[in-house]
Amino acid sequence: VAQILDGRQVAAAYKTKLAAEAAALKQTGKACKLAVVLVDGDAASRVYANSLMKLAGSLGVGGEIIELAAQVTQEELLAAIDRCNHDETITGILPMMPLPKHLDADMVATRIDPAKDVDALHPLSAGLVQVGKSRWAPCTPRAVMAILDYYHIDIAGRHVVIIGRSNIVGKPLVHLLLGKNATVTICHSKTENLTEVVKQGDIVIAAVGKPRLIGRQMIKHGAVVIDVGINEEAGNLVGDVDFDQVATIAAAITPVPGGVGVVSNVMVMEAVLEKKN
Ligand code: NAD
Repeated sequence: VAQILDGRQVAAAYKTKLAAEAAALKQTGKACKLAVVLVDGDAASRVYANSLMKLAGSLGVGGEIIELAAQVTQEELLAAIDRCNHDETITGILPMMPLPKHLDADMVATRIDPAKDVDALHPLSAGLVQVGKSRWAPCTPRAVMAILDYYHIDIAGRHVVIIGRSNIVGKPLVHLLLGKNATVTICHSKTENLTEVVKQGDIVIAAVGKPRLIGRQMIKHGAVVIDVGINEEAGNLVGDVDFDQVATIAAAITPVPGGVGVVSNVMVMEAVLEKKN
C-alpha cells in the first residue's frame, strides 16, 4: 500500500517558519498583507478567499478581501487592482478566478504590479518562471515541488507525466521540473492513448478537474502520484485520481483533501511574506 504524502505535515513545517518570519517582520515595524480581490458570484472562490484569510490570521500575516459586486465593470475592477498596487501596506495581490464572463482575466493579470504578483499571473512573472529566473512560480506548482522535496522524492532523470496544461498549474510545473532535471511529458484533453502515456510516468501529476480520471490501470507499479485536482462530488472533495484504486499500486500518493491544496495556501503566504523582485 502506498505511502501517504501528507500535505498537512508539509504545511505545518512551513507554517512554523512563516509565523516566525511574520513576527520578526513586525518587530522591525514593517507589515505584510495579502489582498484577495473577489468578484461576487463564485461560491468556491469565496470559500478559498475565506480560508486564505483564516490562514493569514493564524500566521500573523495581514489579510483583506476586496469585495466587488458581480456586475462590476472592467474599469472598476482594474481600478481596484491599481489601488492595491499603490497601497504600501499591501505586499501581495491575488484575484480570485474564474471571473464572471464579462470580465477579462488577462487584462487583470497584466495590471498587477509584478512585485506583488503572488501567483505569477502577470506575463512578466510567468516569463521569468519559464526561463528559470524566478523563485516565484504560481503557488500550486510550488506546492507540488515542496511536497516532492519534503519527502525526498528524486526528480533528476526521472520521467514525470503531468496531465493538464493550464497556465496556472501544468505549464509552470514543466519549467520547475525541468529546472530539477526531470524528463517531462505533458498530457491534455487531446492526448491520444492517455493510459499508455501516463503509465510511463515514474511520477504522475494530475491537474485536470475530473473526478477519478486517473485509475489504477494508468499507473506504473511503484510510481509517485500527486493529485492537484479538487472536485466537489455530493458535498465531498475528491481529486482527479481514484485514490483507493491507485493507492494499491503506487509507491506514494497525495490525498484530497489534505494534499496539494493545503500546501498551496501556505505557498501564498510565503510569497506575501518573502517575495522581493
Ligand atoms: P483547467 O480547467 O484550466 O485545465 C484543465 C486541463 O485538463 C486542461 O489543460 C485540459 O486539456 C486537461 N483535460 C481536460 N480533460 C482531460 C482529459 N479527459 N484527459 C486529459 N486531460 C484533460 O484546470 P486548472 O485550473 O489547471 O485546475 C485543474 C484542477 O486542479 C481542478 O480540479 C482545480 O480545482 C484544481 N486546482 C487545485 C489547486 C490546489 O491548490 N490544489 C490549485 C489550482 C487548481
